[in-house]
Order: sequence, then structure tokens, then C-alpha cells
Amino acid sequence: MKQVTLTSPSKVNLFLEVLGRRDDGYHEICSIVVLTELSDTITLERRTSGITISTRDLRVPLGPDNLCYRAADLLLRHSGVHGGVSIRIEKQIPVAGGMGGGSSNAAATLWGLNLLYDLGWPREELIGLGSVLGSDVPLFFCREAAFIRGRGERVEELTALTPRWLVIANPGIEIPTASVYRRLRLPLTTDKTGVIMHGLIASGQEEAALSHCFNRLEGVVLEAYPVVANLKQRLLLLGAGPVLVSGSGPTVFGVMREAEMARQVASSLVESGIAAVACRTLDKNPLFLLAGR
Ligand code: ATP
Repeated sequence: MKQVTLTSPSKVNLFLEVLGRRDDGYHEICSIVVLTELSDTITLERRTSGITISTRDLRVPLGPDNLCYRAADLLLRHSGVHGGVSIRIEKQIPVAGGMGGGSSNAAATLWGLNLLYDLGWPREELIGLGSVLGSDVPLFFCREAAFIRGRGERVEELTALTPRWLVIANPGIEIPTASVYRRLRLPLTTDKTGVIMHGLIASGQEEAALSHCFNRLEGVVLEAYPVVANLKQRLLLLGAGPVLVSGSGPTVFGVMREAEMARQVASSLVESGIAAVACRTLDKNPLFLLAGR
């Protein structure tokens, strides 16, 4: 195989609780994540040596700061392969939007290089490498959806929801994740609601599960960035529900009952100058579709 093209999906957090700060500086979290069809496309091509990145998106770094670069470098060094790769990234996922775009791209790069160089590494090995690159990378190796613990590296498989229509809206500001955690004043928290939601999803009680949607970081984001609070309010008024900030924002997503309504809401936001799309949640990770395992 000389070239491989992968669909690199985004995620939204249906649930995110912060359980405390750990001695290593990371936060202990409990989260429920579903993948969405708002995806980037990653094309990997074998080279005799070196790693190159190309993309049209000016906000995406081209050198070693790019998570795809770091993923390729780590995997090539770890495997001892004599060779390189050129990586083309076509972005659709909002950059720094709380939808895990860079982490997903890194997971796709690890997955694709495993195929390109015929390494035959099991998924667990790739997850291990991914967790070195970032807390959100391992979740993108889930088969359907993920129940997440630890700093993000402990990923339990979760049954996906029946695909749902979402409106995903981005107010066009950047919110550094670290600044949100810095502002967070944690009350005593538990993973109780996450565990309840997990059980409801696993037993097919999807509507009941959705009524528990929650994001501990949302309060901080809405208070510090009124533009995000206004966007959430607007989505609620337009009939979306539940509506939640994803991760540390600024992307806001709203669950819609049907496709037509999702498209109408997205286009009314676009008309008023807000980047918004209608898309579905996924019930299969597109990485697995490619490899057939
Ligand atoms: P995080 O919560 O880790 O900040 P995010 O989902 O909010 O992640 P990303 O789109 O992953 O946001 O981008 C975070 C930062 O990572 C960006 O500011 C960008 O400079 C950098 N980055 C590195 N590699 C990539 C990539 N392949 N795609 C997008 N951003 C990347």
C-alpha cells in the first residue's frame, strides 16, 4: 500500500464531569462522548524519509507542533521503520473548537501508518501511543462511542446512540482549554450521573439518557464568553434540545428531532454570520470501516 485516505471524525461530549485535580497536574474526568460526521480527511503517502504536512487551513501548524506530525514521528520511531510519510489534512472540524479535531487527526495518522507500513499492531498498542500524544487521542479509537475516565486515557466501549441530528455552531472565538480549567471552581463532584447515563445508553433508553446531558466546564465558558451563552440561548429558542458546549468550547451543539429542522436552524445561523452545520452523530467509527476490523 502506498497511500491511504482516512475519515477523521469529530466528537461531542454528551456528559463531562471533572472529578478533581491530580498530582500530575491533569484533571480526573468522567465523560461520555459520541462521534459526529463532521470530519476531516487525512491522506497519508509513503515517502522514503521525513515527515511533511500540507493543509489549506492557516490555523493548522505545518511542523512538529502538528499532532499528525507528532503521531507519525512517534510511530515511525517506535516501530523502527525506515521510511517517512507525507500527510495531507483537509479540515472541516473547527480548529480549537472543543471537538477534538487535532486529537482525531493524530489517531487517524497512527491508524493509517499502521496500515501503510503493514505493522499489524493491535488497537491497544495504538491507544497506548495515542495517550502519549494527548488525553483526547485514545477516545478516537473507540468502535462506536466512548465512556471515558482518568485524564481521558481510560476508554470503555459504549453502544452508540441511534444516529441523531445535531446543529453544530461555532462563534469563531478561541478558548484555550487550560484557561477554562484555571477558572473552574470545583464543588464536590461525583461520577454518579455519568454512570447513570452510561447505563441508560447501554440499555437503549436514549431519550432518558439525553435528559442527563451535562458539561461541568460549560458554566465557566458561558460566564466568561457571553457570545457563547447567546449562541446556546438562540439554539434553545430555535427548538434544539439539549444544547451544550462541547468540551471546553467554544463550539455549541444542539440535538434536533429531524433532519429538515436541523438544516433550517443551521442555515438561519449561517445567514446571521455564524459558522454552523447540520450533521448526524455516528454509530460507527469511520476508522474501523476503512480497515474492516
Ligand atoms: P484541545 O481541547 O486539545 O485544545 P480542540 O479540540 O479544542 O483541542 P484542536 O482543533 O485539536 O482543538 O486544536 C487545538 C490546537 O492544536 C490548535 O490551536 C492547533 O494549533 C493545534 N493543532 C495541532 N495539530 C492540529 C491538527 N492536526 N488539527 C488542528 N489543530 C491542530
